[in-house]
Amino acid sequence: MTVLLGCIADDFTGGTDLAGMLVKAGMRTVQLIGTPAGPLPFNADEVDAVVIALKSRTSQVDEAVAESLAALHWLQQAGCQQFYFKYCSTFDSTPRGNIGPVAEALMQALDTDFTIACPAFPANGRTIYNGYLFVGDALLSESGMRNHPLTPMTDASLVRVLQQQVSGQVGLADYGVVEKGAAAIGARFAALREQGCSFAIVDAVSDRDLEAIGAACADLPLVTGGSGIALGLPENFRRRGLLARQVSADALPATGGLRAVISGSCSVATQKQVALMREQAPAFHVDPLQLARGDDVVAAALVWAAAHVGQAPVLIYATATPEAVRTVQAQLGVERAGGLVEQALAEIALGLVKLGVGQLIVAGGETSGAVVKALGVSGLRIGPEIDPGVPWTTALQEQSTALPLALALKSGNFGSEDFFVKAWSRLS
Ligand code: ADP
Repeated sequence: MTVLLGCIADDFTGGTDLAGMLVKAGMRTVQLIGTPAGPLPFNADEVDAVVIALKSRTSQVDEAVAESLAALHWLQQAGCQQFYFKYCSTFDSTPRGNIGPVAEALMQALDTDFTIACPAFPANGRTIYNGYLFVGDALLSESGMRNHPLTPMTDASLVRVLQQQVSGQVGLADYGVVEKGAAAIGARFAALREQGCSFAIVDAVSDRDLEAIGAACADLPLVTGGSGIALGLPENFRRRGLLARQVSADALPATGGLRAVISGSCSVATQKQVALMREQAPAFHVDPLQLARGDDVVAAALVWAAAHVGQAPVLIYATATPEAVRTVQAQLGVERAGGLVEQALAEIALGLVKLGVGQLIVAGGETSGAVVKALGVSGLRIGPEIDPGVPWTTALQEQSTALPLALALKSGNFGSEDFFVKAWSRLS
């Protein structure tokens, strides 16, 4: 067996979102952080889908195109049979791109003249009707996205928005067709193609629609969209006997060792999670002002950790209230404060793993990025979900260890209050 589905995501958390969706739909999935330089960093017999996470959402168009093509090439080498370009469910882009130009470059490389563009994600309130994208009950152009600092979305018509970005023609598969199911959707795709369209914006207001759209995309070399359309694709591979029906796609290899939480997120949800864990577990506070003074906080944290890490998990955190963060930022500057804390937490993570920590939760998007880099993690095997959007994973590392490291990377506002306490029970 080879990898079936090759995905290119335009940012890291978007990649995780898609990977989680594929696992739920029954595909064993690995998320890679950037395109690997070498061959498969995993056993292809144990993986059905690969998501390469790029950081191309707001980069220069030509850079985004080049990086996406390199990712595609790698996925082709890995034997993937169908390709998926994943972007945000709010279609984050500008008149120059990057969604349209990247999609057209991928189409050209795959020698195909037709694909869909469907960012619908009804479970999260993103629906498309008559080609207009809604966020909850508001048009995209009337949602908070109209004020986005980098990709303000001031037009909700996806046909118009995408048309500005591409040289090919953009058409619409409207709800009247979509509600009739996969065969009708497929027939509309064929008709649009005959009319000379290269893209179909596809209406969708429910998961049932996404499943039908997925079925209609069985023969398309490339699909593009949010993570929603991932729902309908695995069934195509099952129908062809390529994907097992009974498989626990979220099973992870055995992990073990000591347990720790590192938190560099100051988001509201994380503050509550830290407060609850502090009541129950040994905790060490990383103070940015001490870091700025040049104190060896990393060494102190690791000496403390060696004494406390045992059967129960320990917490090492920089998490602070908004007032405390403002005070620190006023003294150090926003960037310097963030950088100092990220660097220290990443070094502490490395030290903890050397002390025998084998199961690690990291809170904070930027913090996770710094930790993953310090640990030399090139990818993640996606496991069981702890809370929506946050799965346990095992790390694919440059230096392989006896047991893989279990990692849960939680972005700021995700997870229930008892996340740090309950997460461990989801590991076998
Ligand atoms: P989130 O996902 O909640 O946004 P991030 O890790 O992405 O979390 O961002 C939090 C940022 O705040 C990081 O750059 C981190 O280093 C910084 N930070 C954490 N604690 C403090 C603190 N006490 N004072 C100032 N900055 C902090």
